[in-house]
Amino acid sequence: MVESWLLELMTAYNEESYSGREAYTAQVHIPGKVFENLVWWALQSLPDEILVGLDIDADAPHVAEVDARFSGTESTPNLFQGQGYTIKEAHIVNRGDSYSVHHLPEDWTDDMFSTSRGSRAGRFTHWLHTHPNAPAIPSGADADAAQETLGIDMILGLRFSPEGPLPWFDDVEGQRRRVGKEAVVEPTKTRRRSFFERQKLPVLGVAPSGHKIHEIQLIAFHKNGLGINVLMVDEQGYPYGWEAFDNQATNAA
Ligand SMILES: [Zn+2]
Repeated sequence: MVESWLLELMTAYNEESYSGREAYTAQVHIPGKVFENLVWWALQSLPDEILVGLDIDADAPHVAEVDARFSGTESTPNLFQGQGYTIKEAHIVNRGDSYSVHHLPEDWTDDMFSTSRGSRAGRFTHWLHTHPNAPAIPSGADADAAQETLGIDMILGLRFSPEGPLPWFDDVEGQRRRVGKEAVVEPTKTRRRSFFERQKLPVLGVAPSGHKIHEIQLIAFHKNGLGINVLMVDEQGYPYGWEAFDNQATNAA
């Protein structure tokens, strides 16, 4: 089972995916359980970033009515490999800083996946990497790495505490997508505030690693630079909050 606070966030994220669907050229569906694992792994791997390979489930095409409901008028079919299929599983492939995380020694990945992945070691459909205490906005190195990707690239940005050696770094321009609301320091009533009170951020939830999570961001993009809409889906392939989207559509009709 996915943690309930994360379920709420994913539902809110899906609402934005729905209301913003015209801004995207294609969509990708990721199971909530997979997304939850990604968040835990990101925090367990600190202070490193992690690179995660994502496989699609060839037996699990997107639920047709969901795909149709979330498609914008400018949707492009056959834009990337695995399009139209739900993400199945995730594997951590590398860890390191924002540059080294993208560079895979070929023999190392062969060894790591030789039993489970055979000669296709390292050749995942989609890739995701993490931005610990930084927004989910691609750097130049990220855009370069994406040119090798057959599917799409995703970035998971997390704001958490304790920060360790990674204070929140927000000096980045670009389009961001929050899973839930922006973490804003709560105003306090007293005028004299201590340093710690000034730093007080709302806590969305606590990870198994003990980190308090203040903000989660997730974006997906194709190597041509176009944004891909992400839906967080349950085990039946329906987005969390689906009934609400269904009602909205019925009311509008
Ligand atoms: Zn990056």
